[in-house]
Amino acid sequence: MAAGNHTESTGSSSTALFDVAVIGAGLIGLATALELAGAGLRVVAFDRQQAMHEASWAAAGMLAANDPGNPPAILELSRYSLALYPEFLARIHALTGREIPLRTRQTLEGMPAGHTLPPGTAARPLTEPELQQLAPGLVPGGLPFVSLDEQSLDPCDLTEAVPAAARAAGIDLREHTPVQRMAREAGHYRIFFASPEGESSLLARHVLLATGAWTAPLPDGLAPALPPPVSPRKGQLVALELEGPVQSECVLRVPGLYIVPRGNGQYVVGATLEDAGFDQSTSEALLADLERRAAALWPPLAHARRAAAWAGLRPQSVDSLPVIGHFEGRFEGHFESPLGAGHDSPEAAHNLWVAMGHFRNGILQAPGTARILRDLILGRTPAVSLEPFRSGRFALAAV
Ligand SMILES: Cc1cc2nc3c(=O)[nH]c(=O)nc-3n(C[C@H](O)[C@H](O)[C@H](O)COP(=O)(O)OP(=O)(O)OC[C@H]3O[C@@H](n4cnc5c(N)ncnc54)[C@H](O)[C@@H]3O)c2cc1C
Repeated sequence: MAAGNHTESTGSSSTALFDVAVIGAGLIGLATALELAGAGLRVVAFDRQQAMHEASWAAAGMLAANDPGNPPAILELSRYSLALYPEFLARIHALTGREIPLRTRQTLEGMPAGHTLPPGTAARPLTEPELQQLAPGLVPGGLPFVSLDEQSLDPCDLTEAVPAAARAAGIDLREHTPVQRMAREAGHYRIFFASPEGESSLLARHVLLATGAWTAPLPDGLAPALPPPVSPRKGQLVALELEGPVQSECVLRVPGLYIVPRGNGQYVVGATLEDAGFDQSTSEALLADLERRAAALWPPLAHARRAAAWAGLRPQSVDSLPVIGHFEGRFEGHFESPLGAGHDSPEAAHNLWVAMGHFRNGILQAPGTARILRDLILGRTPAVSLEPFRSGRFALAAV
């Protein structure tokens, strides 16, 4: 596809015209915008607030493709995305000069009876002395532990670098600019957004909805007729700071708890899993419980100082799998959205794409999701089967 014209004449006025409008500038939206810009497309990306300041900022940052707690259906996507990570980080570096360091390279996973690692996982059972060498003082609590070659990064390192990379790549990134509605117009989408001057609009051939946990309450006209059922699942985290010689460079993970070293004496402990709507406050009782359980697993943390605490909203679909690909809304003859009020044919949903619902693995799965969307929008076959992630699975289930 050739890059879009920069303006299009619509009667007396001219309107900016983009190849792709990305709605939602979290990691999923911006990673995809970077892929599309890299393919020569003209891209605009919107965020209703500062880019990269929702779930993509709040995450623990584990690239946990082989976490035994993951649903098997995401394994292929997770490994595909993991393999693209070095390229993704190198692109950010090339565009901005910023290195995104990997904070850990090894995870010690406690394996309760019945838990199995995904096939093909490189894991090594650890003896008690090995465990104590890697995490001095760890209390295995009767669990066998294995060592995984797993990496993590600090999402805070991405919060400025990724928007900077987007701008350097020529993406028109519009922060504090909520998209309010869309309408279909002459084969394009007209995107209406709030601006200091009131409501403004522009045109795009393709639209990607990457609105994370904010998908369901999208304003009128933006939500598809049957929006993918993605809702917020709150997670609280606490960062503990440890002084002294006893340290660990490994992620420590057991069901329901993880401790992620950042490499500077700080350890991120998470996370709660709550249905609390869009509330992002922290609760002292739940944070204290996280701290207590972390110190039970790794007692040196009993002497740590709380450096920070925060909450974020994971986007979770009803089956906990992401929603990626062409939007397959169930439009029956007359439909009102996502194309705004109108009478159009079902084909009009062409060029409307979704990438949301990455739940606990959106940091991991961003480069892979972005590459898949790029391939779809360019009319190529993606390298990963999208069958489990089709938006149409919900509509079909509802029939
Ligand atoms: C506590 C916690 C721990 C986590 N740990 C990990 C981990 O270790 N590893 C991992 O891989 N993943 C982890 N995750 C999951 C990961 O953070 C998410 O899956 C991922 O960030 C989702 O990215 P996103 O871009 O879809 O959503 P978000 O980052 O939430 O971005 C969506 C964006 O859309 C914008 N938006 C919404 N509506 C509109 C609109 N109408 N107009 C304009 N903009 C709009 C929002 O402002 C927001 O910035 C964790 C999440 C949490 C909360």
